[in-house]
Parts: sequence; C-alpha cells; structure tokens
Amino acid sequence: MNEGVLPKYLLFSSSDNSLFNYQTKINDFIGSADLYIFEEREKDRVIIEKLGLQAHQIFCVKEIVMIVFPLIGKYEFEELVKRLNIKLKNYNRPLSYLNARLTWEILKQCFEKTLKMELTFITKIIGNTEGLKSQAYFQKISTIIVKKYPDRPIRTDSSFRKKARNIFAQVKDENTQQYPILREWVISCFEEGGLLSKSFPSFEYRSIQTKMAKTLTDGFIQGVDSIIEAGTGTGKTIGYLIPSLWWAKKNGEKVIIATHTITLQEQIFFKDLPNLKGILPFSFITALLKGRSNYICRKSFLEQKGSYLQFSSRERLERVIILSWLEETETGDFAELTHININDIAKRYGCDNRLCQPGDCQYRQSCYYLEARKIAEEADLVVINHSLLLADIKTKNRVLPEYYNLIIDEAHNLYPTALRQLGFELSLEQMLRIMDILQGDDKTSLLSSLKRYYITWSRAYPDSQLNVLDQTLKDIPASALSIVEQSKELFKMVDSILEGRSSLLVDEESLDRYTLEYFSLAIENLLNRLDVLNSLLDKINSSIIADSEQFDSIKHEIIRYKSELAVIIEGLSAILDKESDSQITYLEKTNTVYIKSCPFDVAPILKEEIFSKNNCTALISATLSVADSFAYIAQDIGLESYNSLKLDSSFNYDEQMLFCIVNNLFDGQGEDTLITKTASFVKEISELMQGRTLVLFTSHRVLRLVHYQLQREWESYDLEVLSQGINGNRDTILKEFMQKERCVLMGTNTFWEGIDVPGDDLRCVVMVKLPFSSPETPIIKAKSGLLKKHGKDPFNELLLPEAVIRFKQGFGRLIRTKDDQGVVVLLDDRAVKKNYGRSFIKSLPISSYFKGDARMVLGEVSKWI
Ligand code: SF4
Repeated sequence: MNEGVLPKYLLFSSSDNSLFNYQTKINDFIGSADLYIFEEREKDRVIIEKLGLQAHQIFCVKEIVMIVFPLIGKYEFEELVKRLNIKLKNYNRPLSYLNARLTWEILKQCFEKTLKMELTFITKIIGNTEGLKSQAYFQKISTIIVKKYPDRPIRTDSSFRKKARNIFAQVKDENTQQYPILREWVISCFEEGGLLSKSFPSFEYRSIQTKMAKTLTDGFIQGVDSIIEAGTGTGKTIGYLIPSLWWAKKNGEKVIIATHTITLQEQIFFKDLPNLKGILPFSFITALLKGRSNYICRKSFLEQKGSYLQFSSRERLERVIILSWLEETETGDFAELTHININDIAKRYGCDNRLCQPGDCQYRQSCYYLEARKIAEEADLVVINHSLLLADIKTKNRVLPEYYNLIIDEAHNLYPTALRQLGFELSLEQMLRIMDILQGDDKTSLLSSLKRYYITWSRAYPDSQLNVLDQTLKDIPASALSIVEQSKELFKMVDSILEGRSSLLVDEESLDRYTLEYFSLAIENLLNRLDVLNSLLDKINSSIIADSEQFDSIKHEIIRYKSELAVIIEGLSAILDKESDSQITYLEKTNTVYIKSCPFDVAPILKEEIFSKNNCTALISATLSVADSFAYIAQDIGLESYNSLKLDSSFNYDEQMLFCIVNNLFDGQGEDTLITKTASFVKEISELMQGRTLVLFTSHRVLRLVHYQLQREWESYDLEVLSQGINGNRDTILKEFMQKERCVLMGTNTFWEGIDVPGDDLRCVVMVKLPFSSPETPIIKAKSGLLKKHGKDPFNELLLPEAVIRFKQGFGRLIRTKDDQGVVVLLDDRAVKKNYGRSFIKSLPISSYFKGDARMVLGEVSKWI
C-alpha cells in the first residue's frame, strides 16, 4: 500500500434510488474533487447531472485499467474483478454498493501499479493520451511520484526491458536428458497404467488413441504418410503430440503441427504442450509461429509520425494501450490484445510492413517476429496454421524452418485453404491501397521518401542524371493516376458482369465472346499501365544503383514496392495466359468485388511440395472419409500412397442423442413453402428445447427470409434469434449465444464446422438442407467440366463426397463431450428417399434414427428430452 498516496473516497452507487436523499452530503464531500466511475454510461451521466455534482474531473476506470493492465484481456466488470483477484471479506452491503466498492478496489490496483512505473514511461503515456480522459489521471500520478519519490531513478534509454521471447522455450541440456528410444515406449504411454494414466487422474484409457499413436509412430519410423479419421473425444491431439515429440528428440528432426483454426493452435500450444512438458521424461523446445502480420513491428509503431489529431479518440486509446502492452508482452502477438480491433492495427503496425530492413532496424534485437522465427528454427516442435504452411510453399520455403515431418490437423480444410492461398485475388481496394503507398498524403509514402532523397541527390548528381530523376519523379503521379482510373473501370465492369450474382466463372460458357474480350482488354490495359510504373521505378533504381550505402534504404524500399507490384502483374498476366489450362479465373462479390484465380488442381503442387519432400506427413481430422473410403480427400490433395485409419468416436451417440429426419416437409413446393415451413419448425422445436438450438442453412438468402419470418411472429415467440449477417458476424453472435439463455443461433457455411459449444448451451441442431454446393460455384463448375471431360460423373465424384463431409461436420456440432446430450434434425428427406441418401446416413456414427412428418418428429423429440 502507498499510505497517504491513495485519495480519500466516498462510494456511491448510481443505481441506488435513495441517493438523492443524500444529495447535499455527497456534494459537500466531493466538492471539486475527482469522480471515478467504472464506465461512462448514459444513465450515470444523467444521475451525475441530476445530483448537480461539480466534480473536478470525471474518470472512467475502465479506460485507465485497460492502459495500466494491458494483458488482462477482458474488461467486463465481473471478469476484471476475477482476473485482478479481488475478494472482499464480510462485505454485507447491497449489490449496488458492492459494485461501487469493487470499482474502488480495481482503481486501487491501478494506483498501486502506476505508482511503481518509471517516470519516463508515464510521461510517454501522458503524451499519448492527449484528448483522452485518462490523461489527467497519469498527470496526477506523475506529480505524486515526483513529490513522494524524488530519488526514483529515471530510465532514459529507449530499449525495452521485455525482450521478445518464446514463453515456453527451454534450454536444451542434452547431457542431463534421458529419453526413451524405443517405439514401444511411445505406445506404452497410452496404455492402462502407462505414463498418461499415472500422470493425469482424469485420464481414460482409449484403445483408439493407442491405435492412432501406433500408426503415427510407425509412420515416422518407416517414412510412410497416413490419413487418420479420429472423431471427437478420441484424444487425438495427445495421440499425435507424444509420437511427434519422441521422434523429434530421438532423431533431431523438427516436427511441424499445422492446424486450421487459431483456437486449436492455441489449445495445443498453451494447454496440451505445457501439460506434456510436466510429464515427459525429456525436455523439448516448442514454438508457436504465426504469419508476420500477427506480430507488432516496434519500428512502425514507435516511429509513426503525425500529431494525435490524426487519430480518433478510439484510435488514440488503442495506441496508448499498445504502448503499455509493449512494455509487458513477451510475444508481441496481436492475439493478446483481445479487447481492441486488431485487424486495423495489424494492417498498420504488423511486421509484414514494407519498410522492414532488419539490418537497419534499431529494434531488431527485440523484434518479435525475428525472435519467433529464431525460436522456431531451434524448436523440436513448431505449431503453425494451414495458411502459414501454404505461404511457405508459395514463397519457395522462405517462411518456415526446414522440416521433414508434418502433422496436418483439421486436414479436411487443407484443400480449400490451398485453393485460396495458392491462388491470386485482386480488388479495387487493394489497387487503391498500393497506389496510396506510392503517393498518398502520408509522409511515409514512397514518393515522399523519393522527393526527400532528391534534395540530397541534387547536390551530388550530374545534371544529366538529375534531369532523368527529376522527370521520372514528375511522371510517377500521372502514372499512378492512370492506374487508379483503369482499376476503377475494370472493377466497375466486373460488378456489372456479375449482375447481382455472388460469383461467376470466367469462361466461354458463362460469358459471351464480346464480354470475355472486353474483360481481357481491360486487364491488358491495366497491365500496360502497371508496366509503365514499374519501368519508372526501375529508372530511379538504376540511377541510384551506383551510389553509396546511404541510399541502400530507399533502394530497398523501391524493391519491396516493386515486389508488391510484381505479384499483381504476375497474377493478372496469368489470367490472360490463354495457353495455360492449369488455373481458373472467377469473379466474386462478398463485401467487395474481386477478380480471383486459383490453380485448377492443387494436388500436384501439394504432392511435390509436401508429400514427396517429407519423411512423414499425417493428415488428421474428424471428417475425412466418405463411405469408409479416403480416396476423395487423397485425390484432392495429391496423396498417392498412405496408411489409413478410421477411429470411431469414444462417445456413445446412440445414447447421447436422437437423430430425426422430417418427411415431405418441402415436397414439390416452392421457396415460399420452404421459408414458412422451416420457420414454423424452427419455432416449435426451439420452444421445446427452450432455445439452445443451432440452425444450419446452405443459403444466406433462405436464412435471412426465415429470420424475418420468425421476426413476424416475435410476439408469440419469446426466444432470441441471432442470425449470421443480421445480428453480427460468426464470432460475435456465437459468443452472445453462449452467454444468453433461450437463444437460437442461425448460420450458413462457416457454422457447419468449427462451432464448439459443449454442455447444455446447445441441445439441438437443425440442418435445413443437405449441404450440396451449387453446381454453379466457380470451382465446382470448373472441376465438374474436367471430370466430364474424363468421362466421370461430377455428382458422384465431386458434389456428393463434398456434401457428405460437410454433413458430417454439421452433425458433429452437437455432441462435443461424453456428457453432452441432444437432438439433431434434418429437414431434407432426400437422405432417405434418394439412392445417394445412403452415403449420408452411412457416414454417421449412429445405428438408428427416427423418421416421420414434422408433427411426429416434434412428438418424438418431446418424448426424448
Ligand atoms: S526488424 Fe523489421 S519487423 Fe522487426 S521491428 Fe524492425 S522493421 Fe519491424
């Protein structure tokens, strides 16, 4: 405690109605002192006004605590109290007073921490909180420190105490380490009475987990690839982590684990690996590696120019939170800043910035990305995501350290991610951004830098050379303008070609000859203009090439910029390449309009870059097989020879859930019936289940119409409906769904997988239609064409297996733990009426299901619950 430093206080709660009886007393006490409230809400402001408080300053405690404790992550009141470990003994006052008292305790912790901060740092915060309420708070603390602790040393260096480091990195100590060499040791870990059962009291022996560990261990030893389908609850993560760590240590070969979702990546790195660290008889180094843009670049952030006026107050608060976070973070990973919008921040201050030149960077010793890379080089096991794996392929292995062993978890996502990552996409916004980097108003634009250098060159260069430079600098704005104009024209045309459709394949079947030619001409025109700009930059570069080292930095900047242009030039040129049939081009409109192209077939690329190169690659997921075969996934990704293993889930689906198919719901009737009947069924079943229902659609349009239909019945329906795209994006409404009671969640594509709501919050999943892709989806259309060419049937070879995998994913949303229970209902009876329907039913881990009309299904469900 800092006796005499903490101010005297009076607590009152704005939700206490008797407050106005003490108006005079409160006013007398506060006088012109400061008033601290947790959060500035409208109702607090009204009360303060009504009380006529003349407080000197009103502070928002939440704003202060976000700056002082930047790593806490969650700032909702109750969460904050928990995370700051605030406990009040014997406080028998009403809840409103308790909250006021807790607010004081939060503030007290802020006081105590700020008072220990160094003066230079507080001064920096004061400079960065210009225009924010919290500035006066830090000014006060600074005055107190000067008065109370005049002898406290002032830090003057600009280096950081917290250097980037991997928080789980361990120093290798080979002499003292004994690690088992035998394959049998790995298998024994999973047996009854083995290492896992001795170490974790909650460990349950699962023969399927042992089988998986065996397959993987043998895969490493024999250099054989494997595909493993391991349902939820098989303990698959530990099942592959122990064999991987054993192999990495035994052979000194790095193993890479690639997941699709950040959630799994973080679960492995922050939970599973530390757990194993405590029990395995050998030490190991692990690293979590993300793409460059995930790490903050100190240089971009700390050297950003411009006055605070250029930032909105939200941005100013975010900046000061980052400033404070930089003092504490050991990873520099934006993911730690869960309470601010990191998308914008990452774009501005990510390590993928074009000005990065480690050789010239004064922060390189504490650069988070460089450190993460270094640790990944040294690590035995590196956790990454699919995107990074594919970025490494795309950049010819410039992203990942050398590796020969790879485990791909959530492997059903590898193919779609590869199509996206190995492809090319361009939007008008991207074009405008790249032109802005060249000549935007910002002082850091390339043209501004060139003009600054020109002053130096003008003193040193002969006239002839100077004239060339002078003229080239004058030509750049006109060149950029013509690119902007042509880009606008091109994307306007793309928008009109799409005519309200969400996507369209660019081929002779979808577009008439005239439109195709017009489209190609517009791209050619843009390419010509990009070539002009490219040669202007070449001219500048060659003029300064012979110069001294002092111009290295600008040359480097030009090269980086040219490499961004080169990606666009290469992508657009490939679209025009009539000879190449290895890729498809399509137009897409989501939040903006895109021209996209991707390899027609990623299998040869993945085969060459992953499977042929590695000692062992294992693909693992809960949904990889179709009718007990892995041929579909293997063909998609180019895996030719492999061991396969299909492990059933350890859950007892027959006991834990009821699966129903509704007959004849949409029989031969139009969209209107589909909407009304779906809405009516969702209403009835969700009322039965008291909310806790997830409805999976295959079309955004149908989802929206069902939502509005339910809305029309709001008065007789007391459940809240959260729909994707109407009430927020996937993550926001999912979070809300988990926090609220009596709620229905409705979503399309991304909701069919990766939604993990264990326990009672989710008791019912409704699948409206079998999840077939539209045959008009560009990639499906292109692949179907190819299959037809080879005499194959696109429905059986492509659409059906793809839909079955997606169906299994949707089905898998319900039972997430062995204690979960609930109901899955399919409203589409093609699963039982059509021949192909068997593939869907056969793929489920159940032995029976109920079938009947809507009334009968609802009756069965109400009996079951
Ligand atoms: S080395 Fe590059 S990424 Fe790292 S801090 Fe310096 S400029 Fe930023």
